[in-house]
Amino acid sequence: MNTIKSRGVCPKCKSRGIVPNVEAVDSSSLAIRIYGEAGGYNGRAHNFPVRVWVCGACGSTELYVSQPQEVLQAYQQIY
Ligand SMILES: [Zn+2]
Repeated sequence: MNTIKSRGVCPKCKSRGIVPNVEAVDSSSLAIRIYGEAGGYNGRAHNFPVRVWVCGACGSTELYVSQPQEVLQAYQQIY
């Protein structure tokens, strides 16, 4: 797979000036949230932090969760 994260090269502009694995923040850290029941907001919520890879030349940015298998498991338990 040709991604900033996997190859350390920007797939858009081919730069190697990559800023890896930085935190995405608003007022708190950006995260994926999966609720404990389908379509519901009153069940238990699972939050998974999102990390960011940025190309320092063109600004292209890719987002990754740090625990993708756990995101999938949480999703599959509900849907
Ligand atoms: Zn780039």
